[in-house]
Amino acid sequence: MKYDVIIIGAGASGLMAAIVAARQGSSVLVMEQKDKAGKKILATGNGKCNFTNMIQSTSCYRSNDSAFAMKVLSCFDIKQTLGFFQQLGIYPKNRDGYLYPNSEQAVSVVQVLMMECERLKVSFHYQEAVKEIRKPDYSVVTEQSVYQADKLILATGGCASPQLGSDGSGYQLAKSLGHTIIKPLPALVQLKSPVKFCKTISGVRTTAKVTLNTAEKSLAMEEGEVLFTDYGISGIPILQISRYAAKALDQGEKVFLILDFIPELLEQELLQLIKIRISDNPHKNIEEMMVGLLNHKLSYVLIKEAGLEINKNVKQLNSREILLLVQGIKAFKLPISETNSFENAQVCAGGVATGEIVEETMESKLAKNVFLTGELVDVDGTCGGYNLQWAWSTGYLAGTAAGRKGTGV
Ligand SMILES: Cc1cc2nc3c(=O)[nH]c(=O)nc-3n(C[C@H](O)[C@H](O)[C@H](O)COP(=O)(O)OP(=O)(O)OC[C@H]3O[C@@H](n4cnc5c(N)ncnc54)[C@H](O)[C@@H]3O)c2cc1C
Repeated sequence: MKYDVIIIGAGASGLMAAIVAARQGSSVLVMEQKDKAGKKILATGNGKCNFTNMIQSTSCYRSNDSAFAMKVLSCFDIKQTLGFFQQLGIYPKNRDGYLYPNSEQAVSVVQVLMMECERLKVSFHYQEAVKEIRKPDYSVVTEQSVYQADKLILATGGCASPQLGSDGSGYQLAKSLGHTIIKPLPALVQLKSPVKFCKTISGVRTTAKVTLNTAEKSLAMEEGEVLFTDYGISGIPILQISRYAAKALDQGEKVFLILDFIPELLEQELLQLIKIRISDNPHKNIEEMMVGLLNHKLSYVLIKEAGLEINKNVKQLNSREILLLVQGIKAFKLPISETNSFENAQVCAGGVATGEIVEETMESKLAKNVFLTGELVDVDGTCGGYNLQWAWSTGYLAGTAAGRKGTGV
């Protein structure tokens, strides 16, 4: 049987595209290599699915061409996304702009998408991996069979969290059609550090302003709660800056973080505060003086790294030593050796170059009647619902264009 539309990948963007195409009366087949649809959606937002965000701005979408992302999102925006999901049954819960289904269950999102696919008689072939797209008619080749359609949508995702299905095979398929692939790198991922003291402070959570640097410049800055781990550092601010670390490391640059553990005070103000703490309690040693200011384990490392003796009485500290301690708290250097792997990454940076895609339809400029959606494309969102919004918007535009009847080959 020849289908109007074949979609490769039953993830967020593929399911959206399937619904929109089928609503126009097109026959739709979704090919999925896993045993069910929407596996990654189930893992999102710690199982609660942060499916979009009320705040949308260019800075939330990273790409070699961020303007492309904003143009796409303006064609199917947050208001339309909320309308789409409300109509399917998702009553949104708004947490400071972050939107979740009110059920707080990611499975609800998969269920409403699948109920609609069922109503529209979308066909699914599970456990069938697409190995090749054969020219000139773009027939879809699997180990089991060869399929034909008027339109083809590549919704394979990237290569982040391959255990959930997206194993990077989509890049090969897009490449075989002539597309340029900007090197995929892990993003929204933890960072590894070679220093030994990470083990000492593993498990410590603290707020910090984090600046990502190379020898030449600062690349990104975020503030929030960080978590030290055996291998390095994690937490939302770390995930947010990780794509820039991944790119710099990939280019062979030396990468390090500067952590400010008391960002609300200027260096001079902190210096004054430390001096007051010393004069208030002149009998204490340095470690005791730090109690109540910062996490105990962290203080220990900060004192050691400043080259000071833990047991030294605070009265014996000279101005240079006090300044060293203050500078350690305000600008603590943490070298970064690598990011965690794709297995740990929530998304990947890189993918199909946006210049090769029509933004209003997500149609390939190189292969007519072929469309590309979601994480496969060179756009990665920050934490907060932006990656799913990208998947919904691109899936909607591709499904609308591909599902339009009577325009195929
Ligand atoms: C742990 C985790 C938490 C996350 N939390 C959030 C969040 O709260 N909010 C948010 O916005 N984003 C979140 N994300 C990111 C978001 O889930 C993804 O960006 C989004 O799902 C990508 O959608 P997609 O359609 O491009 O690809 P995917 O959802 O990855 O779907 C691709 C599908 O294609 C299938 N496939 C791939 N290749 C083939 C092939 N050759 N043949 C057949 N099938 C194939 C895969 O099996 C998969 O089912 C999270 C990601 C992870 C890993």
